[in-house]
Amino acid sequence: MYDYHTHSTFSADGDCSMDEMIRAAIRLGLSEIAVTDHHDPEYSDLSWYVDLDIPAYESTLDAAAAKYADSIRVVRGIEIGMQQGIANLDSARVVKSYPFDFVIGSIHSASGYAVDTPPYLGVRDRRAAVRDYYMELILCLKEFDDFDVIGHFNFIDRYIDSIPPEDEYWDLAEEALRLIVSMGKGIEINTSAWRFWHGSHHTPTARVLKRYVELGGETVTTGSDAHDISRIGSHLKEAEEMAAAAGLRYIATFKDRSPSYVKL
Ligand SMILES: [Zn+2]
Ligand SMILES: [Zn+2]
Repeated sequence: MYDYHTHSTFSADGDCSMDEMIRAAIRLGLSEIAVTDHHDPEYSDLSWYVDLDIPAYESTLDAAAAKYADSIRVVRGIEIGMQQGIANLDSARVVKSYPFDFVIGSIHSASGYAVDTPPYLGVRDRRAAVRDYYMELILCLKEFDDFDVIGHFNFIDRYIDSIPPEDEYWDLAEEALRLIVSMGKGIEINTSAWRFWHGSHHTPTARVLKRYVELGGETVTTGSDAHDISRIGSHLKEAEEMAAAAGLRYIATFKDRSPSYVKL
């Protein structure tokens, strides 16, 4: 199986070294692990340092990919925090600065604020918080295209009081999906939802994944969003089942920013 979303201590919220994360993936028998540490320029929550140390990251990734080449394929990835304006310009520069295999584009902020913080949530009711999040995604898609998949499509659901009915934002979600498909980009199944939530509410929701496929999307990666070794590889089997249920026959892997498709 393929874990295409993991964080090491190069991320402010990562708890284990890159070496430890990769060794955990090898112990689990994964075929590939994408290391996708955060680069989140202009991030408003100043208690987190989220500008990636790019030179150190690149050299550590290169060394790890070589060191473990006989045991696992280490995919040289990054998770870009997309935000309108300067942040997207900076991200475009960083993505071009190194031969990444795989780039996740994620919305962690909207309207200039980290979406999990009081300055964002404190002045919006649930509906506005959700709609502003998807509007940010749409505007960023029009501004920044140097990514391969959109990370945790419904990230905002983690942080609001109650799971929003999809009809509250479906028009915007569908517009975003149309853009993603027209750009030839993918989305990921982020298995953190299996750990954080109950029932069948996943990331993306089954309805979003099905709509992506109906619109012609065919590039879907699976990733745990692990920030420590205990989460590596978690629920990848369920993610593959979810992909199959949505009508997909393949999941995507990446090398040199190009997808390959592995039969489910
Ligand atoms: Zn993220
Ligand atoms: Zn992440």
